[in-house]
Amino acid sequence: MTEVDPSTAERRTFAIISHPDAGKTTLTEKLLLYGGAIQNAGTVKGRKADRHATSDWLTMEQDRGISVTSSVMQFPYAGRILNLLDTPGHEDFSEDTYRVLTAVDSALMVIDAAKGVEERTIKLMDVCRLRDTPIVSFINKLDREGRDPTELLDEVEEVLKIRCAPVTWPIGMGSAFRGVFHLVHDRVHLFSPRHEGGIAHGEIIEGLDNPRLEEVLGADVAENLREEVELVRGASHEFEVEPFLRGELTPVFFGSAVNNFGVEELLSTFVDYAPAPQPREADARVVQPDEEKLTGFVFKIQANMDPQHRDRLAFMRINSGRYRRGMKMYNPRTGKTSQNVSAATFMAREREHADEALPGDIIGLHNHGTIQIGDTFTEGEELRFTGIPNFAPELFRRVMLADPLRSKALVKGLTELSEEGAVQFFRPLEKNDLILGAVGVLQFDVVAQRLKDEYKVECRFEPVNVHTARWVEAEDENELERFRKKAAENLALDAADYLTYLAPTRVNLELTQERWPDIHFSATREH
Ligand code: GDP
Repeated sequence: MTEVDPSTAERRTFAIISHPDAGKTTLTEKLLLYGGAIQNAGTVKGRKADRHATSDWLTMEQDRGISVTSSVMQFPYAGRILNLLDTPGHEDFSEDTYRVLTAVDSALMVIDAAKGVEERTIKLMDVCRLRDTPIVSFINKLDREGRDPTELLDEVEEVLKIRCAPVTWPIGMGSAFRGVFHLVHDRVHLFSPRHEGGIAHGEIIEGLDNPRLEEVLGADVAENLREEVELVRGASHEFEVEPFLRGELTPVFFGSAVNNFGVEELLSTFVDYAPAPQPREADARVVQPDEEKLTGFVFKIQANMDPQHRDRLAFMRINSGRYRRGMKMYNPRTGKTSQNVSAATFMAREREHADEALPGDIIGLHNHGTIQIGDTFTEGEELRFTGIPNFAPELFRRVMLADPLRSKALVKGLTELSEEGAVQFFRPLEKNDLILGAVGVLQFDVVAQRLKDEYKVECRFEPVNVHTARWVEAEDENELERFRKKAAENLALDAADYLTYLAPTRVNLELTQERWPDIHFSATREH
């Protein structure tokens, strides 16, 4: 085994989780700004616009001005290399958003101070919890009137079931917002809303007893702050690394992303304490990041919609070893070795060719449909990484075929698109239906478009009475058989022939689970 590469230890591979409009894009931009990857805020949105000119994105994406698939940004910060994986969140929310979270070592959670914990954040936290991913929290938009900070932390603890350790504490909010107090460094960072796209530094006052506080905040605000800090120190959790790394406790920062305020405190704690690339479980064994041989897994596949270049980009996270340009990689699922001459890496500015990539990095592999979601690549070892599941769809449609003679082509198309992770499909045991399942509504449009372009199949979708899906298993074969008979009208097979319960309502699912205690109902399925 070679020396542990110090560059691996410097990697921080993470995603931002939030409800739409909480400030994820704004914060991403500020992270790039602090990382020196961009000079001026405002460039991220510009970058989105340029990307559309480069042809390999969906027409639909251009029409709607959103990105259908998530991207990867790599940038340096304070001697570290940050890999930020985008989690599509608006109309482009999809199963990819969930699966991206299986490829990170930590996550930043952004919460809008006026709105608190919102629905999408709850779902994304559920996914993070599958691997106990460490979470750093940022409470955003303190420059606006929001909710009481203590109440916000209580809500995070109660709803998201994670202990909060405030690291900074806000001084006022809205028009009375004056800055934050750093509970660990014992210093006040004054808010200065002037930023003009660049990095702004407000005054720093060392020590809560510093008389300078009276001068700038006034006697009342300074006194209030001292009392509040004493209360917060007494009543809240202290930041500790171990429970943070176990995903049980989250350090919390307050600030205003749009004003570049509180972002630096957030980032410096993040790069210091967020974990470097972690060991990863595979079927045969646990793989350590400092192993000499390359391993990695595919968590996302992005189709090229340009009919002239129908290749697909498979996003692979490296778990061990070192990727070198042109090296041969083995896929234990297909038993094939392939040479990847043109993998792409992702720098903040543009997609570049990768000469080398390390554990924690993401590379993009060009292929023509030979790679599937969840595939492992090695240098020859028979090994399959686990923990890159399918997630139970939340939206369902019945597929209506325009030309019944195309039904074979339809099933072929749907099977391939489901292997790629674009959609899931289910065939009810008792009906000759095809039911599509997705996590985000745009997935249906993408599938209709791709069926038309790539498989010459025209179809439309109808509403169907399915609320959610659960994969079912049982230790006792007889019990499973009994369930199969009794519940047949709600059972289906998914694209890979796994038995799935399609529940018409939440109540139906709960009752069925109660009635069948020996059947396991799972909201995820391993590939
Ligand atoms: P995303 O949907 O989570 O990516 O959210 P965006 O970053 O696009 O932000 C949503 C809106 O909130 C935009 O209009 C931002 O300008 C605004 N916003 C973001 N951060 C702040 C902040 O700190 N204060 C205020 N007042 N607005 C903010």
